[in-house]
Amino acid sequence: DPRIHGIKTKIRVVPNFPKPGIMFQDITTLLLDPKAFKDTIDLFVERYKGKNISVVAGIEARGFIFGPPIALAIGAKFVPLRKPRKLPGDVIFEEYTLEYGRDRLEMHVGAVELGERALVVDDLIATGGTLCAAMNLLERVGAEVVECACVIELPDLQGRVRLNGKPLYVLVEYH
Ligand code: IMP
Repeated sequence: DPRIHGIKTKIRVVPNFPKPGIMFQDITTLLLDPKAFKDTIDLFVERYKGKNISVVAGIEARGFIFGPPIALAIGAKFVPLRKPRKLPGDVIFEEYTLEYGRDRLEMHVGAVELGERALVVDDLIATGGTLCAAMNLLERVGAEVVECACVIELPDLQGRVRLNGKPLYVLVEYH
């Protein structure tokens, strides 16, 4: 798709952020370009409309940028999966390992119901730990995760193997 190249050129790579040796993929420069931002959303919407998806689950923080416009366009609800102690209601949580230490994602109890068809959205997959935790939250309440969708994949980190065969759709790979 010719739109992919335009999207890729708008993603800025910032060396040594947030620490030495990390090449940070920065999607804020993509958001500055309305055409490239719209193309990004359109590509996801074209893939997921008519697939009977009832819930788009977005991962804090950048899944909150891409998830809601997709949800609105396909007629699904949006559910935020948040970092600890941000959600005010009762939550379930999943822990996952980071390079140093652990983190967790939380989801409101009752936000997603048994049998719902879910799409998980984030900006980027690296090791896959975050998406794995997100899928576990949804599956614990009886939802079916149809697919995970990210703007960017770092394929060298082999995050897909953490997804237990669940399909992952990405627009851009960065080696
Ligand atoms: P993973 O759990 O190792 O797959 O890391 C993915 C999570 O870390 C996502 O929520 C990303 O937003 C974030 N992340 C990791 N590396 C980058 C990056 O280079 N740019 C933006 N986000 C990143």
